[in-house]
Amino acid sequence: MIDLRSDTVTRPGESMRAAMARAEVGDDVYGEDPTVRRLEERVAELLGHEAALFTPTGSMANVLAVGLVVAPGQEVLCESRAHIARAELGAHGAVSGVTMRTWSHPRGQIDLPVIEDLFAPDLGPFFVRTAAISVENTHNFAGGAVLPIADLQALRAFAYAQDAAVHLDGARVWNAHVATGVPFEEYGAAADVVGVCLSKGLGAPAGSLVVGSAALMAEARVRRKRLGGGMRQVGVLAAAGLYALDHHIERLADDHAHARLLAAACGVDPATVDTNIVAFDRPDAAAFVAAAREGACWPAPSEPARCAWSRTLM
Ligand SMILES: *Cc1c(COP(=O)(O)O)cnc(C)c1O
Repeated sequence: MIDLRSDTVTRPGESMRAAMARAEVGDDVYGEDPTVRRLEERVAELLGHEAALFTPTGSMANVLAVGLVVAPGQEVLCESRAHIARAELGAHGAVSGVTMRTWSHPRGQIDLPVIEDLFAPDLGPFFVRTAAISVENTHNFAGGAVLPIADLQALRAFAYAQDAAVHLDGARVWNAHVATGVPFEEYGAAADVVGVCLSKGLGAPAGSLVVGSAALMAEARVRRKRLGGGMRQVGVLAAAGLYALDHHIERLADDHAHARLLAAACGVDPATVDTNIVAFDRPDAAAFVAAAREGACWPAPSEPARCAWSRTLM
């Protein structure tokens, strides 16, 4: 069986495991794990930033990234189904004291006129200040939708003019790059802080990074330890990440092609599938699932299946 619930339900293959077994390690809390350092340098360079910091999860990378640019009592703007708003269990409020306001777009896109409207400059002791705008590329709960680079650049220009930061939740920025051919450094240049995940389509067992300036990453290192995310001989995981960067990025194109095939088989218009996620709704869902479990063919619905962009699916 091929488990298609999520791009997280992967298992490291033999070659990745061999790379992990061979990894040179040290105590990363002392900054002495050479494999972690190599991974951090590689990802920082890839995104055109000064530095990066390895974290156990993408959620921790996002909490660190947003917390670095939004002080307690300030706010971050994001799309209403953003992972930071929906899937991080309120960490940005509970841990960082950050508030959020959201805009909604059926495909998780940047809606600049609405963002300009929501944006609250620093007005002293009267209103919550918008310190950052967060975007997610690709957008998980909007079905892996890609955000166009021109929209990201326009947002960056607006934020820069307002002295606000841009956070990119780039858990799947790899997929956006493969789908569009936009170089990673262009995505990096459109944000002040970026989070990326190695444990989604890239197939590493764990590991994410937060990326930004050297000064912000030095502060992130302190905060990571405070959150309990300082790990020791974690080069064994960083080695899996380096292996994934070497061998698994190009293969995301296969995932995207497979996702379009799956979409067609499920009655979803493949043109609505940007990357590796197919989210859809069928009125006959129970029978459809039962037939799929039996491996039976199932007739295409008489009407195209409704895309589940508006649903909050994992
Ligand atoms: C998976 C994911 C994360 C991080 O999740 P973890 O499970 O904490 O690693 C962040 N953002 C998006 C968009 C994701 O899909």
